Amino acid sequence: MTLSIEKSKQLLADSKQYLAGGVASSLRAAMKPTPLFVESGYGPRIRDVDGNEYIDYLLAYGPLILGHAHPSLAEGMSHALKRGVTYGLQHSGEIELAKLLTEILPCADRVALSGSGTEAVMLALRLSRAYTGKSKVIRFHGHFHGWSDAIFTSFPSADMKQAAVGSASDNIAPPGTNGQSENSLQDIIMLPWNDLEALEATLLREKDQIAAVITEPIMCNNGCISPKPGYLERIRELTEQYGIVMIMDEVITGFRLGLGGAHGKMGLKPDLVTVGKAMGGGFAISAVAGKRELMALIENGTVSHLGTLNGNFAATSAALATLRELGKDNGCAYIQMEHTADQLVQGIRALLKKHQIPGLVNQAGPVFHMMFTAETKVEDFATFNKRDAAKYSRFAELMLEEGVLVRPSGLWYVSAVHGENEVTATIEAMDRVLAKL
Ligand code: PMP
Repeated sequence: MTLSIEKSKQLLADSKQYLAGGVASSLRAAMKPTPLFVESGYGPRIRDVDGNEYIDYLLAYGPLILGHAHPSLAEGMSHALKRGVTYGLQHSGEIELAKLLTEILPCADRVALSGSGTEAVMLALRLSRAYTGKSKVIRFHGHFHGWSDAIFTSFPSADMKQAAVGSASDNIAPPGTNGQSENSLQDIIMLPWNDLEALEATLLREKDQIAAVITEPIMCNNGCISPKPGYLERIRELTEQYGIVMIMDEVITGFRLGLGGAHGKMGLKPDLVTVGKAMGGGFAISAVAGKRELMALIENGTVSHLGTLNGNFAATSAALATLRELGKDNGCAYIQMEHTADQLVQGIRALLKKHQIPGLVNQAGPVFHMMFTAETKVEDFATFNKRDAAKYSRFAELMLEEGVLVRPSGLWYVSAVHGENEVTATIEAMDRVLAKL
């Protein structure tokens, strides 16, 4: 079957005449056979302008934890929009949301609201540097922390240098894009993740210059790789010992692995946590949550935190509606999401076996990474890079023809409204696709 996507193709051509590149985020240009134009989304499904319908596992790159057009969110928003979108002044929704966040996120004494994950990370870095009076930041290969000049490195590739020893200058990453200052990453030290030795050696040598260690709790952006037992706990111990801020970037895992995020689930207390994506159910909102002493720097005016639309009424209402829905019935949504993801992952593993296609799935609750690889385990970035990315991209294209939208990189999101019907249809579609692959 060949997908009829003529209208999408035409709209892309039209779009390119006005919108730089024809898409609003560089990542979206990569979609094959063409970036799709959407007519509407409802529940776990999405329909394109050519009338094709897909089960949606892209979920807008993560925010749609309640699927499309969830009644609770739609209702919350129709009420909110009647009162105006944004005021540039305070409103009680901000207090309600901030209070809720301090209740559900174990690390949160105080929170600060922003508009995107990128901005939340920028603020977290700024707070860390101001608090410690130091400037260097350790981050890890294969993690992603947004596209600001302060931290955006080139997209991970198999040949990326992964120096673990030597001086910090051996571990400086190249800028992620043309136009980013050559000097913007001078203070960023890149290390391999899950490698305690590399981290300990670097910290011991350069602790007096290091303001923060920033890490995703699970390497969701590349392979959904879990931390080795004790790894994050050791980061916590060492950072505490050396007066370094531990930032956990929970833009993907926040409110997804549980209402308290990954750190809640793992029983860890980083100094700062960044959250976004799922928080607003599709509206642009993010937050930094953290320790009183650090957040006090915003309170006392020594650290600037700006943004015209920060804490706007529409986005805070969306976040309140989303988080309240997720918290209903003792977090029943999480049981549902995990169950659906488990069913999918079991089905995928069985199909890989049936079709004798070398591949595997790494799962972290309702998010998982499927890859084609001859490796039996993928527990670090270097091994992840041995996967057959081109084959997966072809697979994603064939899945689309079968009515299943998956991200070409291999990361799948499951929402609280995906269920048995979607799982069955997805596994049946995949059976046909793997037979062709
Ligand atoms: N941190 C992580 C872990 C992310 O995955 C992302 C986005 N994929 C970001 C930060 C940046 O978030 P945003 O796209 O909302 O700026």
